[in-house]
Amino acid sequence: MKKIKGNSVSAGIAIGKAKIIDKHELYIERKKILKREIEFELSRFKEDVEFVINELDKLIQDYTYSQENRDILESHKMILQDPEFNNRISKLISNDQNSLEQAINTYFTEAADIFSNMNNKYLSHRVIDFEDVAYRLLSHIMDERKDVLENVDENSILIMENISPSFVTKVFDKNIQGLCTERGSSNSHSSIIARSMNLPMLVNALGLLGNIKDGEDMIIDGNDGYVIISPTKKVLEKYQTIYKEEQKDRKGLLKLIDVEPITKDGKKIKLMSNIEIPQEIDQVLKYNSAGIGLFRTEFLFIDRDDLPTEEEQYEIYKDIAEQCKPNSVIIRTIDVGGDKLSNILNITYEENPNLGCRGIRISLQNIPIFKQQIKAILRANVQGNIKIMFPMISGVNELLKVKEIIEICSKELINTGIAFNADMELGAMIEIPSAVITSDSIVDECDFLSIGTNDLIQYTLAVDRDNQSISNYYKPTHPSVIRSIKLTVDNAHKVGKKVAVCGEMASEKEYVKLLLALGVDELSVSPGRLLLIKKEIINCNITEIKSKLDKILSCKTSKEVMKLI
Ligand code: PEP
Ligand code: MG
Repeated sequence: MKKIKGNSVSAGIAIGKAKIIDKHELYIERKKILKREIEFELSRFKEDVEFVINELDKLIQDYTYSQENRDILESHKMILQDPEFNNRISKLISNDQNSLEQAINTYFTEAADIFSNMNNKYLSHRVIDFEDVAYRLLSHIMDERKDVLENVDENSILIMENISPSFVTKVFDKNIQGLCTERGSSNSHSSIIARSMNLPMLVNALGLLGNIKDGEDMIIDGNDGYVIISPTKKVLEKYQTIYKEEQKDRKGLLKLIDVEPITKDGKKIKLMSNIEIPQEIDQVLKYNSAGIGLFRTEFLFIDRDDLPTEEEQYEIYKDIAEQCKPNSVIIRTIDVGGDKLSNILNITYEENPNLGCRGIRISLQNIPIFKQQIKAILRANVQGNIKIMFPMISGVNELLKVKEIIEICSKELINTGIAFNADMELGAMIEIPSAVITSDSIVDECDFLSIGTNDLIQYTLAVDRDNQSISNYYKPTHPSVIRSIKLTVDNAHKVGKKVAVCGEMASEKEYVKLLLALGVDELSVSPGRLLLIKKEIINCNITEIKSKLDKILSCKTSKEVMKLI
């Protein structure tokens, strides 16, 4: 038996068999091909490269508004047309009997190594271009291949080096027991999605891959943060007992489905759900959520090779809005960047992506793409239960620009005669300190505020939410965060507007009382946590905790705050 420490990002016990998915395995068959298969691999190579070049040509044509993006795509095309690329891949297939995937992987890994070891900063940034081209090519080839998750059975616990948000969404439909990674952090988007699926997950389990074999019995202890490999009979029995108790508790929570989230002292709290992919709507409805407080639309822009059309977006938004009726759906416009990478928006290399072209900045730099999304939302709102929300607002100017764009979109839709409804509440996410400080002006220009605590903590405390090694600085109850929430709430309430919290802080039961005492009106949480948070609301006496509010607000450290709550 071996025990490895990790960081739990989603609580619970998982018992099953290890299924190792390493990054390369996602794309590559490692076995050597047979001599008679060489011709076939070479012809695949030719066809696949041609396909991707055509695809790039199409994208270049579409990017009429950004010369910079067109240049990047041109440079990607040149990588694929380079005779050296052609020769090397052909040799790897013909002489070394590599499969096409293997040959491509070898070529791009070698090229990336050469560039990253160069002292020249410009050239070392070209690694990103090589990785992008490799990703584009391999994901096209992968489509023809079996999905690595196809043969994953119910008993599996997926083990990998790290997991991207797009991969975790693929896991969504699979009936697996848990997830465990060697790297990663609790506040990343992958972890948020795993939590919403109620799937025990551990990150940062150092040394895991070197200590576990495919198919080995294992346990994730998502409560104390351990992976246990080949448990003894005694340990296994202990965890089976805890597992059964947890299942019983979960069943107990189901009794709360039809209970109203009203506090002990009689305040009704609007308790909504966050969703990252449309499939999550089933859980939203099952747990009787009061609508969707954050519909992250990034899934439409990551892990794909073409931009979603207005029509495609319209269908998805309309479908979710119809299913949620009469409750409302708050659609948040594109917020890629940071750990949510999109190869179709072609964000250029940035030294500090979290301080770079993220959130609303991407939309304001790609107006045609933004307009498509806004038009799709306006059209989907014919039933009138959609609200729109904008991420990473740093001040009132961005909001004013966004309002102008909505106006233009409405006019254009009138001209086309397509049905739409512009009578829609507009919200700003408060997740940057500048937005907190100017929340009085921001709230004047919109209908509601929603606090994104994940980023608010990151930016207030200058701590990268994805960097597990400094996670001890990531403190939701730091006095600066608490006071920021209070200031935002006070500014909104002064003008009679509501404030929600849609960051993960709302999904953590220990912070619920505090958020309600600070005056937050609505909570939007991972659907998998909704009933747990409802239980917390029902057991909460706001008046009681409010009596300690002055003390809480004058605390000097997060430890003092935690003690008081
Ligand atoms: C947040 O920052 O709290 C938030 C809800 O947005 P995201 O996690 O998608 O950045
Ligand atoms: Mg955010």
